[in-house]
Amino acid sequence: MTGSTTTPQTTAHALTEREREALAAVPGELFIAGRWLPAAGGARFPVLDPATGEVLCEVADADRDDALDALTAAHEAQPAWQATPPRERSEILRRAYQLLVDRTDELALLMTMEMGKPLAEAAAEIAYAAEFFRWFAEEAVRIDGGYTTAPDGASRFLVLHQPVGPCVLVTPWNFPMAMGTRKIGPAIAAGCTMVLKPAEQTPLCALALTDILAQAGLPDGVLNVVTTSRPGEVVEPMLRDGRARKLSFTGSTQVGRLLLAQAADKVLRTSMELGGNAPFLVFDDADLDAAVEGAMAAKMRNIGEACTAANRFLVQRGVADEFARRLAERMAALKMGRGTEPDVVVGPLIDAAGRDKVTELVADAVAGGANVLTGGTALDGPGTFYPATVLTGVPAGARIGREEIFGPVAAISAFDTEDEAIAAANDTEYGLVSYVYTRDLARSLRVAERLDAGMIGLNKGVVSNPAAPFGGVKQSGLGREGGRVGIDEFLETKYVAIPAP
Ligand code: NAD
Repeated sequence: MTGSTTTPQTTAHALTEREREALAAVPGELFIAGRWLPAAGGARFPVLDPATGEVLCEVADADRDDALDALTAAHEAQPAWQATPPRERSEILRRAYQLLVDRTDELALLMTMEMGKPLAEAAAEIAYAAEFFRWFAEEAVRIDGGYTTAPDGASRFLVLHQPVGPCVLVTPWNFPMAMGTRKIGPAIAAGCTMVLKPAEQTPLCALALTDILAQAGLPDGVLNVVTTSRPGEVVEPMLRDGRARKLSFTGSTQVGRLLLAQAADKVLRTSMELGGNAPFLVFDDADLDAAVEGAMAAKMRNIGEACTAANRFLVQRGVADEFARRLAERMAALKMGRGTEPDVVVGPLIDAAGRDKVTELVADAVAGGANVLTGGTALDGPGTFYPATVLTGVPAGARIGREEIFGPVAAISAFDTEDEAIAAANDTEYGLVSYVYTRDLARSLRVAERLDAGMIGLNKGVVSNPAAPFGGVKQSGLGREGGRVGIDEFLETKYVAIPAP
């Protein structure tokens, strides 16, 4: 079987009027203390359309001084913001939720232009992103405490939760809206001020989101945004300054390690949502239709550019060939192209580095003996396209089984026993999510307990939900975002000792 995907547009695309309007609506400046400002040095950097390689627009390119100005604004705004009634913070989030929902079409278009994902997926991300605001609007008014009697009866404990203080938020390009709201939502709910540094590939969604929060009534200085092409120069001074009290980072494990070391200098609280290498286990007793459907979601959501993407398909030998055949048939039928074109499922990868990495991983697997059932060759051109690909017989030890693919490639290997599958699944430094397909209840629970992962998709190909605790173990990170515990990451516990009355 070969890929039957249509040839996408990889060269010039004349922007439509709607696209120009969506771009024009974004303030391409830094947002500091409630004002849109150019970078102090006047620098700007281009935002590219990954489907064509063309420049969409330019935005302000912050340097160290801008970052420290933003941190000053956050620091100065903290006392008043912390004293705001929780209901007021909640209402701001609720209004921002509604504005996001109302403006879904325009924001989705913006996201597709700068990030590449198909429009339908971009609209789904706006809904997902907005839901974090609704969820944390509800949590803002439920921050609790306690009053207890000490075991010896001689004293009382009063326990209260207070905002951590100014936070530095660093977000990736792959979910440019939701990774922002997943941090900003709980920070606002808890009463923290912040400086957001979005990924250089996708600053537009972050700037549009900032504008929405300002419209929703967020006071000046609570959220400050620094877009930059030089993340290292901008983030490190804020972490080492001493006024920031927390770092919340989503991105690669490699950069996460670096920032943890920098955050250690001033002993900052940290939340780290890092990389993944998700195994997708299919047992002989699985509902194969459901497994293929789940595999499509777990692999193809976000063109495979997700920390939760199924990275290694481990399929029991009795159904391995049939599973691979069905998956390859579905993958080969996917339309590739600019995400604004109708019916496109496979948009461009984020940039040439992303596409070249996928090419290298596939070449390494094939050199080790893997078979290509569909896809397998990158397209030339300034647009960075890689077709939906299925590999079988992926050898143990191949790079594709150890590194994040971050692209639309399903790498399948067969296993014989449950123990073998679990050992293979856990044989990675990562531990974000694992997927399991089986109809045996005891096996479901046994395997879910034995997998080293912060999240398990049990007969389910998508785990992300704003109301659930999202996060990983091992080198996939520290802390959880979303769910009831998401706000805790932005709260300190204070205990007041009182003599018995
Ligand atoms: P990345 O680590 O390259 O970049 C993430 C952010 O860190 C960006 O804002 C970037 O500008 C910034 N950054 C890069 N170098 C820096 C430095 N030296 N100092 C300070 N900041 C720096 O990751 P990416 O390519 O943007 O995103 C993909 C990665 O994110 C994948 O590994 C993916 O698994 C991970 N991710 C994890 C989750 C999760 O919740 N666990 C969610 C989405 C993405």
